[in-house]
Amino acid sequence: MSAGDGVARAGAPVRATAAGALTLAAFFDGVRAGRLVVQRCLTCRALAVPPKAVCQECEALTWEPAPLDGEGEVTSFTVIHVAPGRLVGEAPYPIAVVRMTEGVSLLGRMVDTALDAIRVGLPVRFAPPTDPTADPPVITFRPR
Ligand SMILES: [Zn+2]
Repeated sequence: MSAGDGVARAGAPVRATAAGALTLAAFFDGVRAGRLVVQRCLTCRALAVPPKAVCQECEALTWEPAPLDGEGEVTSFTVIHVAPGRLVGEAPYPIAVVRMTEGVSLLGRMVDTALDAIRVGLPVRFAPPTDPTADPPVITFRPR
């Protein structure tokens, strides 16, 4: 084994050399364009988002892009009353953890939803961000 093979050892930095892994920039470019593309491990088929070099399931380093169908359901949510920076004027607004049909979960903002209508199990669909110029773009969901 040599340095850079992804194996941790005392005194040596861990540096994975992944093949086919998405960059975070590429992931957000997809979000901005209205596409959810994550990455799939070529060894064990596990999905990963956000993009990463090493598979958390099998430690493999080879990936392929995996487009999601955009549908999922709310598994957790909260309402933001004290918003950061650029979002101050938009509070209160809901954010939710959504388990996608394919099994991975994403944190996103709920739109077109009354605050008291959001519940665990609510079926939702990914939607292009309302502000495509935001960097990074806000992952957005609406009820379906
Ligand atoms: Zn794997």
